[in-house]
Amino acid sequence: MGAQYVGRFAPSPTGPLHAGSLVAALASWLDARAHGGQWLVRIEDIDTPRCVAGADALILKQLAACGLLSDAPPLYQSRRGAVYQAAIDGLIARQRAYPCGCTRQDIAQALADAGQPKSRHGELVYPGTCRQGLRGRPTRAWRFFTGNNVSNKSSAHIRHGEKAIDFVANDGMGWQDRRLGSQQQDVARAVGDFVLQRADRLWAYQLAVVVDDGAQGISDVVRGQDLLDNTARQILLQRALGLPTPRYLHVPLVMAVDGEKLSKQNGAQPLDTSKPLASLVAAAQVLGLQVAAEGELADWLAQAVLQWAALYPPSVSTRP
Ligand code: GLU
Repeated sequence: MGAQYVGRFAPSPTGPLHAGSLVAALASWLDARAHGGQWLVRIEDIDTPRCVAGADALILKQLAACGLLSDAPPLYQSRRGAVYQAAIDGLIARQRAYPCGCTRQDIAQALADAGQPKSRHGELVYPGTCRQGLRGRPTRAWRFFTGNNVSNKSSAHIRHGEKAIDFVANDGMGWQDRRLGSQQQDVARAVGDFVLQRADRLWAYQLAVVVDDGAQGISDVVRGQDLLDNTARQILLQRALGLPTPRYLHVPLVMAVDGEKLSKQNGAQPLDTSKPLASLVAAAQVLGLQVAAEGELADWLAQAVLQWAALYPPSVSTRP
């Protein structure tokens, strides 16, 4: 325990930190400190149209004002294109990635033709049209081959011993969340073959996050519950890339008055770093910690680590 723990906070620099993003930052920092491990900041600036110039520096300054300092210089995803390309090349070589020539309209049409539900959380579930090839169309995106879904398996297979295991393995990705317990998702059916590189050539979040969690030796991912639904996809991708799977802990979100997750879009204000302790107390409350706003910042953080460790006891790392 301890030495192998590597945690991270991975903000997208689309604006300054707000009360909601501080919760994820604080939780990941507390867990790293409770384990006596390392805490890294990674700037997830691949979705360049959404990035705001200078937001990375501002976020780092806000974190520093709260006493949350990265144990290594921050990693910038915008500088890692060659690494992401190499990962896709490896997947192509192993037949786990393929080019897709479909527009959104093509996908919507194919789903309508097949009488399949159109979308899931507003995202189209890709029906696998280009699995058989591009049929003369140009490549737009690259997709991850999620494998056969259960409905493609004939029931006859179930009667044969070996195939039965195959069937069960495809029945869904199961994993444990340290706060929420057992999770399950059949990625092939629920999400379909997801995008690794977008039609605008930008790297997809799923690819970049998995490659970088692997490259940085992240043993523990602690992040907001809004990202829970991505985890099964990320574990599939880790397996296809031969990367270890970290432990996961998804923490509660700060909700806005409209009942949605607090974000810039529904009125989140930039964090007021003139009163870091007040901001930290509020973030800690969301995490279920009651640490009084008194004394020095360092003492407050030390108290918060003790309370965090009581709530989420440090566990033995799964990494060698
Ligand atoms: N960059 C993502 C975000 O800001 C977080 C990614 C992650 O923690 O996996 O929502």
